Amino acid sequence: MDTVIVLFNRDLRVHDHPALASACERARAVIPLFVLDETVPAGRRRGFLLQCLADLRANLRARDGELFVRRGDVVTEAMRLACRTGAEAIFASADVTLLAGRRQQRLSRERIAYQLFPGATVVPPGTLKPSGGGDHYRVFTPYWRAWSRHERRSVLAPPRHVPTPPDLAAGRLPTPARPEPMPGGESAARDRARQWIHRALPGYADGHDDLAGDHTSRLSPYLRFGCLSPLELALLAAGGQDFVRQLCWRDFYHQVTHAFPAINRTDYRPRGHRWRDDETALQAWRAGMTGLPIVDAGMRQLLTEGWMHNRARLIVAAYLVKLLKIDWRAGARHFFDHLLDGDVANNSGNWQWVAGTGNDTRPNRAFNPLRQAKRFDPAGEYVRRHVPELADLPTTHIHQPWRLPAPPGDYPRPII
Ligand SMILES: Cc1cc2nc3c(=O)[nH]c(=O)nc-3n(C[C@H](O)[C@H](O)[C@H](O)COP(=O)(O)OP(=O)(O)OC[C@H]3O[C@@H](n4cnc5c(N)ncnc54)[C@H](O)[C@@H]3O)c2cc1C
Repeated sequence: MDTVIVLFNRDLRVHDHPALASACERARAVIPLFVLDETVPAGRRRGFLLQCLADLRANLRARDGELFVRRGDVVTEAMRLACRTGAEAIFASADVTLLAGRRQQRLSRERIAYQLFPGATVVPPGTLKPSGGGDHYRVFTPYWRAWSRHERRSVLAPPRHVPTPPDLAAGRLPTPARPEPMPGGESAARDRARQWIHRALPGYADGHDDLAGDHTSRLSPYLRFGCLSPLELALLAAGGQDFVRQLCWRDFYHQVTHAFPAINRTDYRPRGHRWRDDETALQAWRAGMTGLPIVDAGMRQLLTEGWMHNRARLIVAAYLVKLLKIDWRAGARHFFDHLLDGDVANNSGNWQWVAGTGNDTRPNRAFNPLRQAKRFDPAGEYVRRHVPELADLPTTHIHQPWRLPAPPGDYPRPII
């Protein structure tokens, strides 16, 4: 082949990138392209994304290449560049959301060869099918069994040389407006993954639910933008079954979304819920002002860090849907706006799991936030860290806010 465009999206890396590796092997000229589409809401993630792109550009330049950046509609811009350069093909990593599906469909109708590659998950969505029939797994445990046995493709080395055409304008990359709580990009991701696996993986099985201990990897924003290959990470962490199982949950929700792309809008398993419309309670929840310390701590961690511990996500989500009886879509939207790792499959899949409309085999599971607080934040440390008004309170009051004679400062009494 003469010229191939590699269209990046949420696969912002050079290691183990099947589309990029294949283009570099097969084409005389390769054009790595990212199109910034400002009409797609990026929420809190914009700055992180721009850092990922700057790092990708540096990594491509270190291999004699370039990252070409354009602005506008992805398909229009990719085709404009293809016409200008006479590119014969567009290579991209396959993705599962409704938006990605539409983009993929539009590109496949254009007069250019369009090829999709794996890389977004450990096992490509749609590969594993339950023996009893159906196009995807609806329950996690059998999926985990099949996933663990499934033969994996080999991890690919980054290309040594990316032969980009010399006479093409690279395009300006905006600089992030503010510093991010976590540095974006493949280089930071690989450093963090290596260090975390070496230092903390052995303690993950026992510690990952300890809210104050913060023993999880915090690799989710990097996985979200594809700065890390999930396959490579699963191999690097192969000794830590509990951690690898979490990567399998990620694959699981991706294969559900592949089969049910409306997952962020429509109940996967409708159960006839009648949700309450309560804007005041919803606003209190969003602001971390419900008067329930463990819920407020999680919600404030989200607002300040753009990230929240998984156990806290479960607690605040269950509080919204099971106790306030507010529609999971309102919660998912708020998470999606604020999470650096906010992605459709994981976010909506987990929200539907908590709401009982998703893949939980026990949809009516009870979830008591105070019991959760006592178990996973026994000394109240996580609450004190994120709700400064409560920093001087004894743990009994943190766990039993109703007992407080008067809440300190502007901290509210429990709204329910
Ligand atoms: C209501 C709710 C909403 C969520 N929204 C998102 C989201 O938008 N994006 C997102 O990446 N995760 C989401 N999760 C899953 C999980 O909370 C985060 O992936 C995890 O907290 C990220 O932190 P970590 O990287 O330290 O995780 P670790 O414990 O170190 O796990 C490693 C990786 O495994 C994957 N993973 C872990 N737990 C889950 C899970 N339950 N479902 C799917 N993948 C998982 C993530 O990619 C994570 O980075 C949500 C969970 C809940 C309950």
